Parts: sequence; C-alpha cells; structure tokens
Amino acid sequence: MDRSKLYRRFHTLLIANRGEIACRVIRSARGMGLRTVAVYSEADRDAMHVAMADEAVLLGPARARDSYLNIERVIEAARRTGAEAVHPGYGFLSENAEFAQACLDSGLVFVGPTAAMMTAMGSKSGSKVLMEKAGVPLVPGYHGEAQDEAVLAKAADKIGFPVLVKASAGGGGRGMRVVNSAGELAAAIVSAKREAKAAFGDDRMLIEKFVQNPRHIEVQIIGDSHGNLLSLFERECTLQRRHQKVIEEAPSPTLDPKQREAVCAAARKAAAAVNYVGAGTIEFVSDGKEVFFIEMNTRLQVEHPVTELVTGVDLVEWQLRVAFGERLPMAQDEIRLNGHAIEARVYAENPQKNFMPSVGRIRTWRTPAAVDGLRIDAGYRDGDAVSPHYDAMLAKVIAWAPTRHAAIERLNRGLEQTDVRGIVTNIPFLSALVTHPDVRANVIDTGFIERELTKLTAPGAPGDLEFCAAAAAVVHEERKSAGKEAHSPWQTFGWMPVGERQRVFVFRQATGAEQKVTLRYGAGPSVLSIGEREFAFETSAAEDGGFDLTLDGMKSRVIAVIEGHELYLRTRGGRFDLHWVDPFGGETEEQVGEDKIVAPLPGTVVALLAEEGAKLEKGAAILTLEVMKMEQTLRAPFAGVLKKIKCRVGDIVGEGVELAELEPASA
Ligand code: ADP
Ligand code: ADP
Ligand code: MG
Repeated sequence: MDRSKLYRRFHTLLIANRGEIACRVIRSARGMGLRTVAVYSEADRDAMHVAMADEAVLLGPARARDSYLNIERVIEAARRTGAEAVHPGYGFLSENAEFAQACLDSGLVFVGPTAAMMTAMGSKSGSKVLMEKAGVPLVPGYHGEAQDEAVLAKAADKIGFPVLVKASAGGGGRGMRVVNSAGELAAAIVSAKREAKAAFGDDRMLIEKFVQNPRHIEVQIIGDSHGNLLSLFERECTLQRRHQKVIEEAPSPTLDPKQREAVCAAARKAAAAVNYVGAGTIEFVSDGKEVFFIEMNTRLQVEHPVTELVTGVDLVEWQLRVAFGERLPMAQDEIRLNGHAIEARVYAENPQKNFMPSVGRIRTWRTPAAVDGLRIDAGYRDGDAVSPHYDAMLAKVIAWAPTRHAAIERLNRGLEQTDVRGIVTNIPFLSALVTHPDVRANVIDTGFIERELTKLTAPGAPGDLEFCAAAAAVVHEERKSAGKEAHSPWQTFGWMPVGERQRVFVFRQATGAEQKVTLRYGAGPSVLSIGEREFAFETSAAEDGGFDLTLDGMKSRVIAVIEGHELYLRTRGGRFDLHWVDPFGGETEEQVGEDKIVAPLPGTVVALLAEEGAKLEKGAAILTLEVMKMEQTLRAPFAGVLKKIKCRVGDIVGEGVELAELEPASA
C-alpha cells in the first residue's frame, strides 16, 4: 500500500478519547501547532478535555457504546470539524482494527499502526505464533485454534499446573483465571469464556504456564513508516491488583544491564516481525531470571510517562511525527537512560470497601506544582463529575529523580500533597504502597498487593501528634478567620487579659474511641494535653496552605481541611480523617436549617470571628463563647450569609439568647 495515503502531514487532530489521556494528547498536539478537536458524551459536556480542545463535538449518550466506542459517530465528528487525523489514546477504540480501517477509508490519518498490524498482534494467540517464528521466548503454553474442552484439558496437563487460562482477545486483566489443579480447570474455562464473551465478544482461550513469583516487564518501542524501529528501554509494572497495573517504573530495578539489552533486543525483534509502525509495547512476564513474551499492545500505554521522563522523549510528539510520515528523529544509540521514574495511578475507588468505584462531584482537586521532577497528568478539576460510565482513573502522579530511592520519596511527597475531596480515592493506599519496605527493597511479585492488602488499606492510627494537630488546626483556622478583621483580639494568641483559660476538644477516628485534648493558654506558653501528657505548642502559617506545628520544640508541617465536623489531616505520620465531636457546634440534626445562632449555655462572648454580610461555608466559625471557663466556637450549621450579629465582645448572654442570624444560601 502507498504509505503516503496512510501517513502524511495534517493540521487538525481529533482525539477519540476522554480523561487524562485526551488532555495529555492535546497538550503535545498543541505544542506542535496543531488544531485539536475533542469528542464527548452527554456525561462529559463539562469535562476537562472538552474545555482544553479548540473544538469539541458531542457524540451521543453517556454509555460508551453510544459515544466513545461508536465508530460511525467519531468519523462523522472528524468530517464535521475538518479533522484530518485521529489519535485514539488508550482503551476505547485504540486497538480496534475496524476503526483504524474506517479512518483510512474516510481519508483520515490514524495515529497508530495499520489495521493489518493490529490484527496480527491484537490477538494473544496470533501474536504468539508470530513471536515463535521470530524466535522470541514465549511462556510454555497452548495457543492453538482448537477450543474443545478435551484439547484444552490435555494442553493444561502437558504444561503442568498451575496454569493461566486467558482470553485471546483479552485486555485490562479480564477473562483470565489462575488454575491450580486439573479439577478446577473446566469451571475456570467456563467462567473465563463467559467474561471474555461479554467484554470482547470473543471467547477463544489460550493456556499458559503460570510463572511463579511473576514480575511484569515491558518494553516501549516505536517504529516509523521508513522501516526504522527503536526501543526506549523497559518499564517494570509488577505492582498489580487483579492483573491491573497500579504502580509502574522505569527502568526495571530487577534487570541488570545485560538482561536489559536482551529484553530490549527481543522486543525489537517482536515488533520487527510485523514491520511495526507507531508506538507500541511488548509485554513480558519474568520469573526474575528469564523473560517470556505475553502480548503486544499496539497503542500508547497508560504508563508511557515514566519512559518519557527517563529518556526525555515526548512519545505523543513522536507518534504524531510518525503519523506525518516523518522519520524517527533519533537513532538507537542516541536513546539514553537517565535516572529513574515512577508513576502511581489515582483512581476514584475505595480501597477500604474492596476498591469499590466512587462516583460523584469532585469538591476539591488539589495537586502539587509540577516542579522538581514531579509530573501530574490529570483529566479532572475542581467541580468535575466522576461518572459511573467510564474508567475510574482520574490522574497519574509521576516522579523522576536520579535514583530509584529518591524517585519513590518524590512520588510519595507528590501523593501526600494531592488532595481530592467529594469522592473517595486510592491515594492513601498508593502512599502506603510506595513506602512499603518490600517495595523499596524491590522484593515483590504481582501477588504482592493481594497478600499485603490488610496492611496496605488499614487506616493509620492517630497518635498524640495527630490529636494535637487536630486541636491546633481548629484554633489555627479560627485565628486565620479572625485575623481578617482589624484589631481582632485573636491576632495575638495570649489575648485574654487575666488568668489561664482552657478549651476542650474531643476527636474520634471513624467509629473508634473518643480522645479528649485540652488546650490551656494564658500568660505563659500555650499547652495541649492528652491525659497526663502535656505539650507546649505553637502554630505558624506555612506557604502551602498548611501550618507548622511546634510541639515541645519540634516543628512539623500539618495540612488540614476542616469541613464542618470532619477534619482531614496530613501530618508526618500520614493521612487521618477525624471527626470532631463538638457539643455546641451544630452536631444535632435539628440545628440544620435553623437560621438563628443561639447561645447553647449561659456565657460570655469572647470573640467575633465573622463579619456581617460575610458568605459562610457550612462549619465556618462565627463567634466564640466562653462557657464555664471553656471556650466553644459556634459555627454555621449550613452555608449562608451572616445577616446580623446580635452581640458584642464582652456581652454576657443567657442560654437560648440569639447571637446571630444566618440566611441559608439559595441552592
Ligand atoms: P495498560 O495499563 O498497560 O495501558 P490497560 O489495558 O490496563 O493496559 O489500559 C487500558 C485501560 O484504560 C482499559 O482498561 C480502559 O478501561 C482504560 N481506559 C480507557 N480509556 C481511558 C481514559 N480515557 N481514561 C482512563 N482510563 C481509560
Ligand atoms: P491483559 O491483556 O489483560 O493486559 P496480559 O496477558 O498482559 O493481559 O496479562 C496481564 C497480567 O497478568 C500481566 O501483567 C502479568 O502480571 C500477569 N500474567 C500474564 N501472564 C502470566 C503468566 N503466564 N504467569 C504469571 N503471570 C502472568
Ligand atoms: Mg497486558
């Protein structure tokens, strides 16, 4: 076929995907001066990729089949916008040969291999026949045409248990079963076939020896339409859950330089067997000594950024240049390995509830600045909705450093500084994973997460530091809001004229026991006490939205988000969610919707923390009352406007006296 028909210069690129990968592709395309066209479903009208692109076309209803997977509608969107090329991202139509062909037939450049290459490599069985011929090492197994039970059973016996039954058309870890003995085989085949039929419309199976203590190693390759083919080193993706990657790194910490060269050479040989054009990945499973080919992915991979960070190559840019019909800009010996990179996939899921997906609106989306070797590839922002229709991956946090150790530290710090509210994410789980001593020591296999699950998902137990930090966070926040007013007595902490004052906080983690923290302050230094233990304490604002807490002369950074009675804390001990049990703070349901702020007990007004006319979030501090030598801050029981303050500092008020009026925010 005339290659100029397949690959030629274009100016407008349609991205047939959503989420972080659509955003990622738009970034590089725009950098190359291309006009970008997004496509979207009804659920994604306000999605980030739609906002980023120059133009966007509605494909159809939320269901992927009616939108992102609908070939006709995607091609029609290209026609309507004058797009000349299509980048498929990963997932969706990226490995669909029919789609690649439909693009070509409509005069569009498909950014990827030809339909024929996809067909040859797309099936796990078919590609193994090719690899066998090319002399690439395979896992011992059966990948023949015959599918009757007797043939499969005989093959499994010959291979020797345990075996892995796999859907030939499989992807994303689906249609796969480990079988430990002959007796389990028939049932496993039936259920794997059922899953494969539903997911891929194809239930052909292959059988492989289940490699013991398996590690996943893969090689990034890219070919141009002039016969040049390069490998860009390997990635190790051994940290998996249910055969799905969670953490990926480059280079593999398991291979020595000789093994590295061998696996990269095997990958080039594999890709050369089909004169591969475009970016692709050759996947291997390893027992720690040898590597065996398992499959090829004929697309850009989720984890491509780690390769980009250690080679300095922008893979999307190279994909587009190959699609222009250009030659690859470097030769094999110019591709250098520099440092170490590691990536964590941030999912909207709850590790404590068996990784159940979490859907809803993202209230807060905070990620650290992408500096000092940190990269964040995100597909979501503040206020975006996470829909149940698509993959739960929200973003990737990727770190680079000169050494593996430093890259892990950097990644963990990046994760610690990432804060998503409104939905549940796996971020705490990712932090626990990357800081696990076995992960640092690289003594892992693909079963590691499953074995360590209890440990990896256990919420950290808060200690003195966390309880003190919680009390300090409340006080710190109150002082901050009071500080906005001129002449506020809260500007200096020891503001009370005489005597020592105290204030009691009670916190609890989930359904755990309650912990009392007492704050005493007055003439001398302020003191926090928990039971018999006492800590002199101070706080000072820090630049990243958190504050520095000094306890008995030891300073550490605390990040705290206070939402009503829920406190999200990050201390050097990790992440903690605490509930603030406040007897006077609108804990009771009756108070919700009540627009009068009344004194719960007789007391003295000691501070006004908000001004008349101020817009208040639910839980925002309004004023502080001193009751029986203890202070209680009255908070907004709902979001609204502070209509009137009906008291002054120093007023002695009786129980039930109205102190302020709050007007609910209209919905
Ligand atoms: P790899 O992780 O090696 O690239 P996968 O098969 O796990 O291989 O990656 C593709 C996965 O990405 C699919 O399971 C698919 O559900 C998911 N996916 C597809 N499109 C998107 C997207 N836009 N954002 C996030 N995930 C997606
Ligand atoms: P998918 O298309 O779902 O990515 P793969 O064939 O790549 O399917 O397998 C997914 C994962 O399962 C691999 O990353 C690897 O960890 C594990 N795996 C695959 N084949 C074997 C095997 N023969 N022995 C042990 N583990 C395997
Ligand atoms: Mg795979």
